[in-house]
Amino acid sequence: MARYTGPVCKLCRRERTKLFLKGTRCESQKCPIEKGRPPPGEHGRGRVRESEYLLQLREKQKAKRFYGVLEKQFRRYYAEAATSKGVTGEELMRICESRLDNVVYRAGFAMNRPMARQLVNHGHFEVNGRKVNIPSYRVKSGDTVTVKARSKSLGRIVENTSYAGGREIPEWLSSNFKDMQVEVRSLPDRNQIDAPVQEQLIVEYYSK
Ligand code: SF4
Repeated sequence: MARYTGPVCKLCRRERTKLFLKGTRCESQKCPIEKGRPPPGEHGRGRVRESEYLLQLREKQKAKRFYGVLEKQFRRYYAEAATSKGVTGEELMRICESRLDNVVYRAGFAMNRPMARQLVNHGHFEVNGRKVNIPSYRVKSGDTVTVKARSKSLGRIVENTSYAGGREIPEWLSSNFKDMQVEVRSLPDRNQIDAPVQEQLIVEYYSK
């Protein structure tokens, strides 16, 4: 499946916010956002007037980049959210959060979402005892995601879990690093989702 392979810090600079697409660097002073680097292509340019449309577009792009989702799939998520019973923006965020790659990252088994996506792709995870190697797979409340027995000693995963020890695991997930598994207690409410996104602007963008 197609995915973005260019420089990731550029994406954060474009969105003027931290998207946490790398590992420890994102928390350090080396992060270009911390250094106040301007968006690409805007060196020395005056402030661009931001129309309503531009704000909505940027918010949509930011969310896609944050979760590593391409346009076609993101639009499908929106269509699903729009036909659900809940609030469209909140449903959209919940759908993104329930992706397996996001759960692997949030639970502390990967340093960032691109790495989580790769680990899932390489078949290192099981959901309810069955191997799943599709990053966009959606978990449900009560599911258990486990690192496959043969992958439990994999250096990269062990390293990630020790790094993740200092990161806050969201309360809708229950990580057990000893058994290398995470239980999905429930799908999150919007106030449990730590994402720098104003989903209402995305809803406005798509509902035009
Ligand atoms: Fe780069 Fe991470 Fe900073 Fe984004 S948050 S600019 S990926 S170091």
